[in-house]
Amino acid sequence: MQRISWDQYFMSQSHLLALRSTCQRLMVGATIVRDKRIIAGGYNGSVSGGIHCIDDGCYVIDGHCVRTVHAEINALLQCAKFGVATENAEIYVTHFPCLHCCKSIIQSGIKAVYYAKDYKNHPYAIELFRDAGVSVEKVELEKDTIDLQPNN
Ligand SMILES: [Zn+2]
Ligand SMILES: [Zn+2]
Repeated sequence: MQRISWDQYFMSQSHLLALRSTCQRLMVGATIVRDKRIIAGGYNGSVSGGIHCIDDGCYVIDGHCVRTVHAEINALLQCAKFGVATENAEIYVTHFPCLHCCKSIIQSGIKAVYYAKDYKNHPYAIELFRDAGVSVEKVELEKDTIDLQPNN
């Protein structure tokens, strides 16, 4: 029996969270980890109690769905809501973070980003992460680790 690695375990959790997404344009999951413990998780979806994209369609402005709170922000806000420190934590995301999430991740004191899929990897985000000393590493979900099939 093969024991699942920490990276695969946390990345699997993010893929599982992505299945809860309510926006059909892209299903994203994020898991915040500190000292090998999951402290928060999030997926991209509407504000609590709001209309879901999957029910009413996306609200698209300039090619972006503006209805949803991104997975990374939702995970960070869960920490804010319940008073959990994110300093020196790590985040596992299914997709490379957008610029807004990149800045929030840096500002929250997170020191490492692990992502499974490249997604419009913005050069400025890469530059900001590098300048802030945040390590960025691609950790793909291994098919034989867990057989989850997100739709993107
Ligand atoms: Zn949407
Ligand atoms: Zn984002």
